[in-house]
Formats: sequence, structure tokens, C-alpha cells
Amino acid sequence: MTRQIHFSANKGLPAIGQGTWAMGEKALQRRDEVHALQAGIDLGLTLIDTAEMYAEGGAERIVGEAIRGRRDEVFLVSKVYPWNAGGERAIAACEASLKRLQSDYLDLYLLHWRGDIPLEETVSAMQALKQQGKIRRWGVSNLDYDDMRELTVLAGGAECATNQVLYHLASRGIEHDLLPWCQQQNMPVMAYCPLAQAGRLRDGLMNHPALKQMAAQKGVAVAQLLLAWLISHNGVMAIPKAGSVAHVKENAAAREITLSNEEIAVMEKAFPAPGHKTPLAMV
Ligand code: NDP
Repeated sequence: MTRQIHFSANKGLPAIGQGTWAMGEKALQRRDEVHALQAGIDLGLTLIDTAEMYAEGGAERIVGEAIRGRRDEVFLVSKVYPWNAGGERAIAACEASLKRLQSDYLDLYLLHWRGDIPLEETVSAMQALKQQGKIRRWGVSNLDYDDMRELTVLAGGAECATNQVLYHLASRGIEHDLLPWCQQQNMPVMAYCPLAQAGRLRDGLMNHPALKQMAAQKGVAVAQLLLAWLISHNGVMAIPKAGSVAHVKENAAAREITLSNEEIAVMEKAFPAPGHKTPLAMV
């Protein structure tokens, strides 16, 4: 049984989903992107993460095409720009996302990052959207420990279903306080940039000798080790973006990889956690 993630009152979801940042930007890649997402759904990567920001709605249109006729099979996540995250603007932004996604509802709607609109107003807007049936649940993204503590004591704030943050083997700052706190609250953490954008966010990650050696010994890819490491953490799911079916297949297979404590120790020694509080990393 592969690890599952439980959002509030929801059947378990596989701990690896699919990201969509940069999809919908190039017409020539459209077909491959739709196929990749569909292959992912076929393989059980049924959580799809998108945002009104990605290609200014273009990624949501790709997702809409990929899930046509099979909406019930997927757990759809989108995000609202901070400046839209309150009042009527939030309702309008959500409706526009739904139209592009060709869906009546989102399973999860996230505040993309904290902006100037008070969190109280965002919570109220999320509650209104929930009451209207446009979203099933809501959460946040890019909120650090202090922001989360502030949010969850607001009226309705404890309903926050997740925090989506940057987390990969070479960026482990959340392990200091945010991750343990979320685990204590039983709040799933969605790890974005789980592959450090194929290593672009960290030189030397994908070809680190210790990782390459371990991958070769296990007959897997370094990318798969990175995903397996992330989802070995309680309550953590990863949302890699893959624009090709080959990458989707690798990512899906990473759910079946078991890492021993010794293997985890080797990986963590190669890329240690900071050991002290660092500001939340973001892209
Ligand atoms: P990822 O770490 O997921 O890396 C994506 C890159 O990895 C792409 O170049 C992709 O190539 C490549 N890749 C995918 N699978 C493999 C594989 N098996 N082997 C080798 N390379 C692979 O970066 P993202 O920035 O896309 O993050 C993931 C998702 O998280 C986003 O798509 C988005 O949905 C979300 N996100 C959320 C943010 C937020 O602020 N809330 C910020 C950033 C991301 P190819 O496309 O060619 O397959």
C-alpha cells in the first residue's frame, strides 16, 4: 500500500500528484501536456495542482482539457492571487478558474501567497465559496510558521486544509518548525518544486555522487529518490510537474520506492537541514 494523504473528510489520495506550472505557455506543447496529465491520472496521480497565475489561466485550460469527461476521478486544486483573495474579487476569480477548468467545483482552493488583504477577509471569502458549493475546502500556500499560527486562531481559520510550500531535499528549512507544527495539526503539507525544478534551483543536486550511486544501486532515477524521500515524511505529498509521459511514469513509480533508514541518512547527510530557523523559501 503506497502512502496516502488525507485532506479533511476525504478518502486517501496518493502522496504524489501533478503540478502544472509552465503548462499552457506554448501552443506547440499543448498536446504533450494534456497527454502527460491524462497518463498521470491513469496511473493514479489524481491530484492536479494549478493556479490562475500559471500562463495567466492557460494552465487551467490545459487541465480542463485533460480532465474532460473524468472530473470525478481527480482532486482539483487551484490558487487565487493574493490581490484577488477577498470579497467579490475572490468569488469572481474562482468562477473564472472554474470556467477555464470546465468544472463546477474545486476540491481545494489555495491562497497563493500572503499579500495585503487581511487573512480574515480571505477566510470569509473562502467560507462563502464553500457555502456556494464552488469549493470543497480551502488552504494556503507560502505561509511560514508565524503566519500559520496567526491564521489558524482566526474565526474559521482552523478549517485551513493544507499549506503548500517549497520543499525538496536541498531545501529543508520547513523541518525546523513549520513541518512539525503541520504534522501536529494533522494538516497535510504539499511540497512544491519537489525536484528542485529538475535541479535548476540547486546546482549539483541531480548529479550528486551519493544520490547517483544510490539510484544506480536501487535501479531507479535520482528524481525518483527525491520524491520517495519527500513522501517518506508523515503527511507530506509531492506535486512534481512533468510535461512528458516518460517523466509522469517515473514519478508515479516513485510511490513504490521504499527507502531504508540508512538510505535516508545518506541523502540527508548529503543535503543537511539548516538546523536553525530560516525564512520560508519560495520561488
Ligand atoms: P518541479 O520540482 O516539479 O520540477 C519540474 C521540472 O522537473 C520540469 O522541468 C520537468 O520536466 C522535470 N521533471 C519532471 N519529472 C521528472 C523526472 N522524473 N525526471 C527528471 N525530470 C523531471 O518544479 P515545479 O516548479 O514545476 O513545481 C511543481 C509544482 O508545484 C508546479 O508545477 C506547481 O503546480 C507547484 N508550485 C507551486 C508554487 C506555489 O507558490 N504554490 C510555486 C512553484 C510550484 P518536463 O516538464 O520536461 O517533464
